[in-house]
Amino acid sequence: MTKPASIDVALERNRVFAETGGYEGATPLATLRLFVITCLDPRTDPAHLLGLDLSEAFVVRNVGGRVNAEVINDVAFVAQIAENFNPGGDEPLFEVAVIHHNQCGAMAFSSDEFRTAYADRIGADESSLRDHAVLDPAVTVATDVARLRAAPAIPSRVLISGHVYDVTTGLVKTVVPAGSQTEQLVKPSR
Ligand SMILES: [Zn+2]
Repeated sequence: MTKPASIDVALERNRVFAETGGYEGATPLATLRLFVITCLDPRTDPAHLLGLDLSEAFVVRNVGGRVNAEVINDVAFVAQIAENFNPGGDEPLFEVAVIHHNQCGAMAFSSDEFRTAYADRIGADESSLRDHAVLDPAVTVATDVARLRAAPAIPSRVLISGHVYDVTTGLVKTVVPAGSQTEQLVKPSR
């Protein structure tokens, strides 16, 4: 049986990356002041669909690109670092772009059968997984933007926007324009 390509292909590319100095000039703070949250679906790699170069953005990916407690803590962590570099003032530190997409595998959470089996597998409460489902990405992304804006750990200097990526056209459409926690009442536009 042929061994699957897996990491070997990627490691070959890494050698080229290193040899050609692809890592040079990269900085620990995102140069576009952008923090992208998106799905782990291989079709939704923000480096490709947003044309991001190395060190231009912070990126967190999980199932569905959902804003959960862990993601909120990650944004808060970057906010704290950014504040250290840029104390005082009220100019924005960075923008968080939450991106959900159509045809998302996270729609599986709407199936009772899937949810029960998965909850059993990971030792979680089945009912807590219900709201992980992404059926209408425009709706879930608006929910997640509101969740992030409402989080006490996120300072108002962090702007938050919501977008939907269409895997069939390659286009990202803005659903909730950038705003901060003081703009809770922004209604999602479709
Ligand atoms: Zn997805």
